[in-house]
Amino acid sequence: MGEAVAIGIDIGGTKLVAAVLDTQGRVLERLRRQTPAGDADRLVDDLHGLIGDLDAEGERGRGAGLGDGLPIGVGIAGLVTPAGMVRYGPNIDVHDLDLARLLAQRTAQPTLVLNDASAATLGEQRVGAARGHRDVVMLTLGTGVGGGVVVGGRLLTGANGFGGELGHLLVDDGGRPCPCGNRGCIEAYASGTAIGHRARQRLADEPVDSLLREVAQITGRDVTLAARDGDELAREVLVEAGEWLGVALAGLVNALDPEVVLVGGGAATQTATWMLPAAREAMAERIIGHAWRSPPPVEPAALGDDAGMVGAGLAAADLVVDEQDVT
Ligand SMILES: [Zn+2]
Repeated sequence: MGEAVAIGIDIGGTKLVAAVLDTQGRVLERLRRQTPAGDADRLVDDLHGLIGDLDAEGERGRGAGLGDGLPIGVGIAGLVTPAGMVRYGPNIDVHDLDLARLLAQRTAQPTLVLNDASAATLGEQRVGAARGHRDVVMLTLGTGVGGGVVVGGRLLTGANGFGGELGHLLVDDGGRPCPCGNRGCIEAYASGTAIGHRARQRLADEPVDSLLREVAQITGRDVTLAARDGDELAREVLVEAGEWLGVALAGLVNALDPEVVLVGGGAATQTATWMLPAAREAMAERIIGHAWRSPPPVEPAALGDDAGMVGAGLAAADLVVDEQDVT
């Protein structure tokens, strides 16, 4: 294990995870607690407490203040400005929370806040499945669909920090309703929620046998488990979601020409057997000049649930290096 360089934090819908990281994004110390949903003041208090507890754990375990004075990088779902203001955080229901400034004030440590999927993409590009590549596109499949883009080794943030919201790329204009209010976004086809919904719809429409008929409220996870148990309908639903994913990826590859495309998020590893081959094929047919070029590889992400925390932490470590360069 290397020297501690940053604290990475993931603010999830149900839990907060904080870890002390080394330069390779390895976790030296990790703590978690429940997310105080909908309570911005308590969120800042709890994060401050968690960071303090990391220090205390460090004192007991490895010598004084393992996390003390380290830069802090936070990943959170939602729209986050370059200054670390959370305009909208759907998982914890906060609006206009000046999270980077509040945490920096409380901890007196440099603090960076990023969209969680963007942070995850950066984590994978630095120390995960896209290590060594400078142009990377990643989609994260979970309850929703998130995304991130690294161009020339730098995270694409856009003018307002809202770049890389790949989950709302249109694949089927006027198609299935998306939670964002539009119709036909890839999130409405490839998220865990969408996969569960599609399985329920097919069972209602078709008189086919399926293990899923025994399940009361079918989720994406139920579909994945049934597919692993050999259920044909579940596999078809995943293949279809993979084909839609490939349509989205073709648009992204045409726009960005990445070296590698990663698919991450909670469901990605378990569904890869069915979704990724379908996605690769649908993408390859649709990319411009497909007769004369090789499509980029489409691979599962490697860091799992830690990707956002690791990416945010390593980005915060860079922040300190950049400041030192300037002075
Ligand atoms: Zn949408």
